[in-house]
Amino acid sequence: MSIADNIEKIEERIQRACAASGRKREEITLVGVSKFHPIESVLEAWQAGVRSFGENRVQEGVEKFAGFRESRPGAELHLIGSLQRNKAKAAVETFDCVQSVDRESIIFELGKRAAARSMPLPVLLELHTGEESKSGFSGLEELFRAVELVLACPALLVRGLMTMAPNTGEEGLIRSSFRRVVNAQKELQRRFPPPPGGDWNWSCLSMGMSGDFEIAIEEGSTLTRIGSAIFGERFL
Ligand SMILES: *Cc1c(COP(=O)(O)O)cnc(C)c1O
Repeated sequence: MSIADNIEKIEERIQRACAASGRKREEITLVGVSKFHPIESVLEAWQAGVRSFGENRVQEGVEKFAGFRESRPGAELHLIGSLQRNKAKAAVETFDCVQSVDRESIIFELGKRAAARSMPLPVLLELHTGEESKSGFSGLEELFRAVELVLACPALLVRGLMTMAPNTGEEGLIRSSFRRVVNAQKELQRRFPPPPGGDWNWSCLSMGMSGDFEIAIEEGSTLTRIGSAIFGERFL
């Protein structure tokens, strides 16, 4: 199976999940997670229509995507892995969105570094809902505090939430993880209503990976991060 074949299959599955839950395909962005895969694979995915890519390490993203977007309008690169403070400068220079804002100290650092960009940096706040991954804000109170900090940084634009569901075969656990994010979105919408016509909002829900993206779409995901189902297994 080629990368293009894999993408075609994923597309069909996304469309089926949308149809099953009364949603439109255009509501969902497919981010191809290219970590540990070479630029040649990224180019194949681009040829097959994928426009957004995700990397979980800053340095890998910097090296792999050097020059990639300059000649490809519409291409986007998202950081989806936890960010170390000393990589924040490189991150704001390289990524179009940081999805993995997972603690207060990184908000300060990103806000400071993003001020040097020509455009503010879109970010998502990561909510910890699974047992496996340790990263992310643990609940609403933590999220509320984080939002206050983000809103105080003019160089950051919050656009929504991100989560990783537990890595389990139990569908109920996965669903409840996604539902926590949807509920948090509602609470945030109420407590921090975005200004009409403003450039920040709560609209993006980054949920769903290779093993659970259909469930995520049924639960309201607007962005799925798909790695192995597109690019194949990762070899370290
Ligand atoms: C690796 C990774 C993905 C993609 O995982 P697959 O199971 O290969 O689709 C998605 N999100 C994050 C945060 C990741 O680190």
